[in-house]
Amino acid sequence: MTTSPHRFALVLFSGGQDSTTCLAHALTRFERVETVGFDYGQRHRVELAQRSIVLRALRARFPAWRERLGEDHVLDASVMGQVSECALTRDMAFQIEADGLPNTFVPGRNLLFLTLAAALAYRRGLSVIVAGVCETDFSGYPDCRDDTMKAMQLALSLGMNRRFLIDTPLMWIDKAATWQLAHTLGQQGDAEGGGQALIELIVEHTHTCYEGARGQRQAWGHGCGRCPACQLRAAGWARWQHPR
Ligand code: ZN
Repeated sequence: MTTSPHRFALVLFSGGQDSTTCLAHALTRFERVETVGFDYGQRHRVELAQRSIVLRALRARFPAWRERLGEDHVLDASVMGQVSECALTRDMAFQIEADGLPNTFVPGRNLLFLTLAAALAYRRGLSVIVAGVCETDFSGYPDCRDDTMKAMQLALSLGMNRRFLIDTPLMWIDKAATWQLAHTLGQQGDAEGGGQALIELIVEHTHTCYEGARGQRQAWGHGCGRCPACQLRAAGWARWQHPR
């Protein structure tokens, strides 16, 4: 086991593909791992419902991770709804706005989530905050940038007088590589079926679709298949299955 002071982690866990992969990453790396989710008045409650299903499946199928996976926390972040309007919380079609940002962007959302996560981590004695943000595939969100994460790490560490590490395992990889990472991590969970067991869990149980559709299962999982989130996930799957 590592001699690093950073042995206990809090994973920002939404129940999607990315945050589930981040959770697996944390479970291979840290002695104790807790999860936090945010209820911000999501238009589709299916996201929050899938969180506990994913957690249950991880505990059931991955003996090496069962002991490490600790408490799950859900924080009320509904205050976001009072200050912003976006396609994730209101019934609007997805579109790109005049400033080039998708209308699923909620200004300040990730900054607020990281602040709440750090406050919770402080109280729980966890020094690593794991976030599934990524600059590679979907660069529309300025609060997913590496510079934003580094600035937040510094601000939170100074402001709470506690050395936090913001760990972003997906920052520089694309969706195809995220599927491969899940396969590699899955091999370390002692599951029957090895890496494929984690792929199967992610395909079946994680939720990504902006439309909140579970729908028919495709090779890459459930979803409407048309929204940008589904298309990104499906395209990543296709590139992983058939690399050019
Ligand atoms: Zn969709």
